[in-house]
Amino acid sequence: MAESYDYDLFVIGAGSGGVRASRVAAAHGARVAIAEDHRVGGTCVIRGCVPKKLLVYGAHFAEDLQDARRFGWDVPKCRFDWPALRDNVLAEVERLEGIYGEILERNEVELHEQRATVTGPNEVTLADGTRLTAGTILIATGAWPMVPDLPGAELGITSNEVFHLDAVPRRVAIAGGGYIANEFAGIFHEFGAEVTLINRGDRILRHYDEQIRDRLLQISLTKGIGFKFNAPFERIEKAEDGSLDIHLKGSPDPLKADLLLWAVGRQPNSRGLGLEEVGVKLGKDGAVLVDEDNQTSVPSIYAIGDVTNRVQLTPVAIREGQAFADSVFGGKPTRVDYENIPSAVFSHPPIAGVGMTESEARDKLGSYKTYTSDFRPMKNVLAGRNERSLYKMIVEGETERVVGLHMIGPDAPEILQAAAVAVKAGLTKAQFDDTIALHPTMSEELVLMR
Ligand code: FAD
Repeated sequence: MAESYDYDLFVIGAGSGGVRASRVAAAHGARVAIAEDHRVGGTCVIRGCVPKKLLVYGAHFAEDLQDARRFGWDVPKCRFDWPALRDNVLAEVERLEGIYGEILERNEVELHEQRATVTGPNEVTLADGTRLTAGTILIATGAWPMVPDLPGAELGITSNEVFHLDAVPRRVAIAGGGYIANEFAGIFHEFGAEVTLINRGDRILRHYDEQIRDRLLQISLTKGIGFKFNAPFERIEKAEDGSLDIHLKGSPDPLKADLLLWAVGRQPNSRGLGLEEVGVKLGKDGAVLVDEDNQTSVPSIYAIGDVTNRVQLTPVAIREGQAFADSVFGGKPTRVDYENIPSAVFSHPPIAGVGMTESEARDKLGSYKTYTSDFRPMKNVLAGRNERSLYKMIVEGETERVVGLHMIGPDAPEILQAAAVAVKAGLTKAQFDDTIALHPTMSEELVLMR
């Protein structure tokens, strides 16, 4: 690597992908710097997966405490203290931020705590005007929550702000139908808010298996979460009492809410980075276009993670960061395999899936079969909780190779991660069935499906 550059690698964005890429490149012997204009750790650690999952745990106690009575526990009337949970979660986030900082320090990655933009194929400029050069530049700037352009949209908040609320609002409206919308619907509902999920289209969780997402809809409705479908926003106004009037097209009366959360998608964070000016091609949605090796149209500039808008998940950004660093600085060319990526929705109850949904199998395979197990977990039976789990396996018609596994029920993501290994390995239904059930568990249904 030419010594004439200040660094071998300059990474913009210290999130999941950027931190992994910089530490691995440094371990391979590269001189590495990274710029971060918010907080080290990025979306996942600071305002995404981690604080979200901790809130999901916190929210679940509402049901656990209720169920505990049926298991003989004398649970007095419980009061939920939002500031206590919020502050504990934020303290944990701060602890993790420190750990990420230490990872960079230990690996001698130089951290610039300010915004960086690209000002040449081998040059970045920091917010304070410092110009730095690098043999390779890596764009790992993530994505940003979208807010629609309509009157009063600024009265709503996004997932960036949701972890810092002063109190749990009485009435929460959530715009969107994706995983973040459904997760926060569950969280706020369990904390006692009146929740309405407002969706422009006619379904939630478009990319998930139809039967599984229908089951979540049915359970959510039974719990008391409201849904409005085919309901585009018109405008939002602040009422005299400080609450929000949400006007939806085709509805004569506004929906009243104390909080509106926009969860309508995340767009690649590429604006104002100087990329197009130096010749980096962007997609229509602003995604940095890269080849299989994460290289952009400018050979010295690479991009990984959400900013490329391939699969917006933390483990994918991390894999891409690792593959980039191993390929470019480790002499070990590596490509990420995007087949069979497991994913989850931490709703109440959660959903998890890997591989093809039934409709994908219908489109892609000559023939396929499905197996399902629709059951009420024994814990729910004793608790008097009328929530059924659904596991669904999709197999290729002739070989019975498992091509998709989808589930909704307690601990579904924990169970699916292990089962995803078998799906990725290309095992057949018969091989699942060869494994003796582990009884009594919910996951034994995976080897007993009919
Ligand atoms: P990020 O982690 O977003 O990091 C990008 C970093 O770049 C940020 O820290 C940003 O401040 C910084 N930056 C941007 N521009 C500049 C600049 N010009 N100069 C300096 N720094 C800059 N994924 C999962 O896998 N599981 C989940 O359960 C999950 N839950 C989520 C929940 C929520 C509410 C949200 C919002 C996201 C969730 N995600 C989840 C998605 C996950 O957070 C992202 O896929 C992941 O963080 C992407 O990593 P990244 O490295 O591409 O970008």
